[in-house]
Amino acid sequence: MTHHASRMQPHRLVRLGLGIIAASAVFGTAVAPAAFAQTLPGQSTSVAAQTDTGLSPTTVGQTTSVQALTLAETEGPYYKTNSPETSSLVQPGLQGTVLTLTGQVLDQGGQPVAHALLDFWQADAGGAYDNTGYTLRGHQYTDANGSYTVTTVVPGLYPGRTRHIHVKVQAPSSSVLTTQLFFPGEAGNSRDSIFDPSLLLNITNNADGTQSATFNFVVATA
Ligand code: FE
Repeated sequence: MTHHASRMQPHRLVRLGLGIIAASAVFGTAVAPAAFAQTLPGQSTSVAAQTDTGLSPTTVGQTTSVQALTLAETEGPYYKTNSPETSSLVQPGLQGTVLTLTGQVLDQGGQPVAHALLDFWQADAGGAYDNTGYTLRGHQYTDANGSYTVTTVVPGLYPGRTRHIHVKVQAPSSSVLTTQLFFPGEAGNSRDSIFDPSLLLNITNNADGTQSATFNFVVATA
């Protein structure tokens, strides 16, 4: 519940920054591709060509293929370093609905990022974090296709927050993205100022009572 204390200002700054990027992309595509291209290093050649030919389909494609970075969120108070390397956070005796989360880590061009680090941590089904051990904490690396799979349980609720899973994602030799993943249909989502719909899991309820979820991350790469 102490998530709320120090979060407000950085969170607002991140959203403002993304808004500016989105606005620039739309404006640049529709009106002034040359101006937009000036903000991207290494595209001066194509800018020169556009002066003569105007807006080309190739330029539109390049602009719209830049995917927005996954939104950063506050780390919260319960992260611990040195989590075990494992793709299964489920241990014997652990209660809750088994959840298998899969997805890819992508760069802003939509290309898979191999050997990206993912470090998950979350509350148990009762809403408690293990702050003495490493229950429901674990890290792994994406495969050659940028894919990951983590088996866990649906986290429980704790006061002040909607349901969420914490994660850090880092492409090789790049900066760390710290964020949180959210669950659709939660009454608490609209009351939680950390919640953002761009971070919603895509959930499937399986016949055996387990759940499957997907989420793709878009991260900065070196
Ligand atoms: Fe939390």
